[in-house]
Amino acid sequence: MLLEGKTILVMGIRNKWSIAWGVAMSAHENGAKVIFTHHPTEKEDKIQELIGEIPDAKTYPCDVATDEDIEKCLKTIKEEQGQIDGILHSIAHANTEDLRNDFIATSREGFLHASDISAYSLVAVSRIAKEIGLLKPEASIVALTYFGSEKVVEGYNVMGVAKAALETSIQYLAKDLGKEKMRINAISAGPIKTLSAKGIKDFGNILTVVEEKAPLHQNVTTKQVGDVASFLFSNMSSAVTGEVIHVDNGFSIIGV
Ligand code: NAP
Repeated sequence: MLLEGKTILVMGIRNKWSIAWGVAMSAHENGAKVIFTHHPTEKEDKIQELIGEIPDAKTYPCDVATDEDIEKCLKTIKEEQGQIDGILHSIAHANTEDLRNDFIATSREGFLHASDISAYSLVAVSRIAKEIGLLKPEASIVALTYFGSEKVVEGYNVMGVAKAALETSIQYLAKDLGKEKMRINAISAGPIKTLSAKGIKDFGNILTVVEEKAPLHQNVTTKQVGDVASFLFSNMSSAVTGEVIHVDNGFSIIGV
């Protein structure tokens, strides 16, 4: 199997609609051992119940808003699970008002918050995981981004700016991690109805437009995103790093 013998850490599980869950299921079905982190504000028993579907899965609380919390969490994982082969970063957050008002109204605090949680946290996780020796040689990191970083998507606002920072960070991180033969890539997923997505104004309309205009005339599933993440975690993608791979039924290639 594609991921036999590999351990993958999935950061950002919330519920069964989370993209993180689709990735976890794909990694599990491809033979990986899967472990999770969840935001400490989540009810741990609910997360435990969900991840119970995957044998031996364990979840650890982790708030990516501070380096201290990331370090504490990743060190515990290393102690309990040993070195790992891959990390999924499936985490983003913006203040509700910044997804409701015009982008021009974004406050300094809102801009910094979205960038901190949605982009900088990937830099911190990559650095700390490497520094504490959590990652095996040739480990692979995968993050989630969205088309709103490339073109204006009504209502995506400050999150589009944060995703642009995330994508560029991936290129610089790829250069640094490459010194140790580690890889990092992003999946630009098409819109998926998750709890986070519900915060975006007129999200239903975005789904309709994609179905209408994407070459494959459908919306993506978390499983389809998960299967591409499994490829990126696997040795099959050993020469791929610093990339953003669109998993969007081709929507992003369409002009007029
Ligand atoms: P989701 O299920 O709500 O996942 C987002 C996760 O981020 C939640 O588990 C959330 O935890 C976590 N999070 C937020 N702030 C955090 C913090 N400070 N520390 C740790 N975790 C934190 O939504 P999703 O749509 O699957 O999002 C996953 C990723 O995919 C995000 O990067 C998103 O931007 C990206 N993406 C989504 C779509 C889409 O259409 N859904 C498309 C492309 C890319 P809490 O809920 O407890 O805060």
